[in-house]
Amino acid sequence: RSKELGRNQYSCFKRQMQEEFLSEFTIENQLKEALKDNSFYMDYQPIISSVDGAVIGAEALIRLKIDGQPLGPNVFIPIAEKSRLIVQIGNWAVRSAIQQLSIWNQDREKPLLMGINISPIQLSNQLVQLIKDCLIEFKVEPGLLELELTETALLTQRKATSEVIHSLSELGCRISLDDFGTGFSSISHLHSFPIDTVKIDRSLMPSSTSTNEISKLLNGLITLLKTIETKVVAEGVESKLDFDTCVNMEVDMIQGYFIGKPMHPNDFQTKFLHNDYMIEASDSQLQN
Ligand code: C2E
Ligand code: MG
Ligand code: MG
Ligand code: MG
Repeated sequence: RSKELGRNQYSCFKRQMQEEFLSEFTIENQLKEALKDNSFYMDYQPIISSVDGAVIGAEALIRLKIDGQPLGPNVFIPIAEKSRLIVQIGNWAVRSAIQQLSIWNQDREKPLLMGINISPIQLSNQLVQLIKDCLIEFKVEPGLLELELTETALLTQRKATSEVIHSLSELGCRISLDDFGTGFSSISHLHSFPIDTVKIDRSLMPSSTSTNEISKLLNGLITLLKTIETKVVAEGVESKLDFDTCVNMEVDMIQGYFIGKPMHPNDFQTKFLHNDYMIEASDSQLQN
């Protein structure tokens, strides 16, 4: 009987593998189609200053709909990476975000920053050239780009990885360490790479984890990052509690549903760029 159970489990596992393979294969083809049809698009999520609530910039987040249904980047980016389609898809995203930034900054006194996610597979001299070209084409200062890399990307021990990151930094782009606090967070990454900004992962926010230890860890982490003069962005700020905690712990910038979800650029413009958007300063902020 147990043998039969084992066999059933095995065939179930096998079916699951086949299904996964099939759906991966389907998605890969859908990605190729989307590239051909130019049907990817970008949403933008606001990032604000925790000091005065002013909008500082946006993070560009790629989007795709299949038959009207959204397919999340968490699903398709890994498949795009495996098939290396990420190079083309990511290049499209980079160009599109720089173009949007240039449009928004046309009539702004204080220019916005743009966060752009970069996959480790994209890191090559070709990417450096693409960014240089886009900066010239759209007349954007390199210092307004914040290229977001995860620690897993840094851990890809390819010599090219480190060289490309240094080239991008020397070009004047800001380098941002994304999802900090999830993977193998190591202090050593902060000095072996030219990191300007650290984005603290939403799993460390009080609404995700409310234990006292995590809260102390978060506080310590922020203090440490500020000591080494790294800008700190809190990601996934979803509630008033998250927001107040981040303001009190003096992170520099805040991003999350509490401020605004990723949205169409037109909505971003109306909600955040017209008549100088400012979030109502929380009470705690006013008292301090
Ligand atoms: P990420 O770079 O860490 O982006 C933040 C993700 O958290 C986004 O998910 C965003 O919608 C979500 N988020 C923001 N605020 C909140 C919040 O308050 N609560 C919760 N629960 N979630 C929040 P999204 O858009 O699904 O993107 C997922 C990941 O896909 C990104 O994570 C990034 O790693 C990757 N990605 C997105 N766009 C691109 C791109 O253009 N190129 C590359 N290479 N990767 C991308
Ligand atoms: Mg990011
Ligand atoms: Mg992140
Ligand atoms: Mg992420």
